[in-house]
Amino acid sequence: MDVYGGIEAGGTKFVCGAGTGPEDLVCESFATESPEATLGRVAGFFRGLAVRPRGIGIGSFGPVDLDRGSPTFGFITSTPKAGWRQFDLAGAVGRGLDLPVAFDTDVNAAALGEARWGAARGLTDFLYVTVGTGIGGGAVANGRAVHGLVHPEMGHIRIPHDLAEDPYPGGCPYHGDCLEGLASGPAMQARWGMRAESLPEWHPAWDLEARYLALGLATWVCTLSPRRIVLGGGVMRHAALFPAIRAELGRLLNGYVQAADVVPPKLGERAGVLGALALAETRDAERRDARSNQRSTKYSER
Ligand code: ZN
Repeated sequence: MDVYGGIEAGGTKFVCGAGTGPEDLVCESFATESPEATLGRVAGFFRGLAVRPRGIGIGSFGPVDLDRGSPTFGFITSTPKAGWRQFDLAGAVGRGLDLPVAFDTDVNAAALGEARWGAARGLTDFLYVTVGTGIGGGAVANGRAVHGLVHPEMGHIRIPHDLAEDPYPGGCPYHGDCLEGLASGPAMQARWGMRAESLPEWHPAWDLEARYLALGLATWVCTLSPRRIVLGGGVMRHAALFPAIRAELGRLLNGYVQAADVVPPKLGERAGVLGALALAETRDAERRDARSNQRSTKYSER
């Protein structure tokens, strides 16, 4: 079994891991500081390993440039986080460790991890959505993470917002009351004056949260046709949200299309770093396939 490395690059913490999968994963996490200080810790982790990985996968906070033909491929682009804007993360890691690097969004990586070892095993069409500090989604269609013009920003869709029922204006700095602006952890805290994890079971916050998330899910079910939606992130640790979201999603779709399964992740806190590992493994397999295709082409030309 080959060893790969994974980096979950978050705005508040970085998680580095190495291994062949969940069974033998070794991990280290630290706070995100300046790019120089943070990448110094990353290099320290990977250089200290007993076995050198075949490649590194990075699942990054963003927005990021995923266009392999672009001069800024692998860059974090328009983040408000000091020092990281227009930073060549994939390039810096690859040069620093002299290893091939696969690069994607944090949520696309987590989706791949859940497909490889977790709640989406065997599925080629599903979503991984995190509801925490922000709301982000990774979409896998036909077995591949959806990229495109940039990459999906599923948390920033518009949903109906009844200001009479919920006067909170929304907290997204770009859109105000987009889904993330209304239903992220910080939005719940701003609306109710306490952190999501401190809100009691009976609090009306949870019905409203289930409604907003189900509105998001209904849009993604109708546009992307996922078979399953894996919902992770800090807010989703409130387990009662799952049955409430399923019921509301069924009500919104009203029998017109079948609702996707809505399930928690199986990899838990390690979804991000294991996803990054899966990313490295997938890219390595693609490179091996490309090489063996080249060889067989040469052979047939003779
Ligand atoms: Zn927004």
